[in-house]
Amino acid sequence: MIKLAKPYIPTSALESIKDVLESGNLIQGKYVAGFETLVADYLDMPYVKMVSSGTAALHLALLALGIEKDDEVIVPAFTFPATANVVEIVGAKPVLVDINMSDYCINVELIEQKITSQTKAIIPVHEFGQMADIIPLMRIAKRHDLYVIEDAACALGAEYRNKKSGTYGDVGCFSLHPRKAITTGEGGIVVTHDKKLAHKIELLRNHGAEKQDGHLDFHLPGLNYRMTDFQAALGIPQLEELEQIIDVRKNQALHYDSMFKDTGWIDAPATNSERKHVYQTYHVIVKDKNRDDIITTLREQGIETNLGAQALHCLTYFANKYNFKPHDFPNSRIAYTQGLALPLGKHLKKKEIEEVCMKLKDLL
Ligand SMILES: *Cc1c(COP(=O)(O)O)cnc(C)c1O
Repeated sequence: MIKLAKPYIPTSALESIKDVLESGNLIQGKYVAGFETLVADYLDMPYVKMVSSGTAALHLALLALGIEKDDEVIVPAFTFPATANVVEIVGAKPVLVDINMSDYCINVELIEQKITSQTKAIIPVHEFGQMADIIPLMRIAKRHDLYVIEDAACALGAEYRNKKSGTYGDVGCFSLHPRKAITTGEGGIVVTHDKKLAHKIELLRNHGAEKQDGHLDFHLPGLNYRMTDFQAALGIPQLEELEQIIDVRKNQALHYDSMFKDTGWIDAPATNSERKHVYQTYHVIVKDKNRDDIITTLREQGIETNLGAQALHCLTYFANKYNFKPHDFPNSRIAYTQGLALPLGKHLKKKEIEEVCMKLKDLL
């Protein structure tokens, strides 16, 4: 089977994991602290907090910023549902905006018409590893005094004008799920420039607990969103190799691009000279064919593919609650119904990338 994705586990990680397990200190210890320092250096950010998932990271961002009942938060209509689920969970309303077909990210030109007196924040998603059009988006946020939470769950290492994803907004959130370029099994990262916000996130991820003068007290109703130390031990050597991991993905993506060039039946992902795409997913749009049939047939031929992300307005919960119609966000619907994620990553050889391409061409 040519797998869609496969976690890359450096052998050096196994030694450190053993070290953690034998030490008896399993949770949020020196490896978590070391991982946080490494990420802080990598992103050039002052405050980095490891948490238990990308979803936990987004939830903490909303809680720390005080987003609550009756607030509105602008999100792209096409994303992994976690982006909007956390908005629902804090009692706020996700306000959907359609995406561009060029980058599968929020169409920044459609944001301002959705801003009301209730709007508190925008959550741009850097979909599939390419950053949303973040500079004009930050300008809009500033003009309307809105927070920006970057959902960079699948975009660690991505850049816009040589500045990394997650470092533009008030809070940046990353995921370390096995489908992302580096993984700790489950895991997430929250980053911010703001000391107070960082402190609040620190408390919220650990029951609201804080030790002062050797005395443990509880200052907030918090959660348990901590990362274990063996997860951090797994993540550290991957982070050290992240640039090479990205290079492999990028070269594979370029190879796909060259093979799909000038074919009428597939739209390859667009690139943008101002943005560094890290290709968490190589996502194409298949035209004039049933995408689900393609996934099934390719699977029978030993190739694993999948849809890329969901159109929120087409999902039962959001459609029922907000009475959305399928055509409300047309680009998001196309990406949801015609989008196809192809195998990518260090586990694949060039020949296998070519095989995927040939078999897909045969089908179309
Ligand atoms: C993966 C992902 C998430 C969720 O991350 P988890 O670590 O699985 O909780 C959220 N948003 C986007 C855009 C994602 O791709």
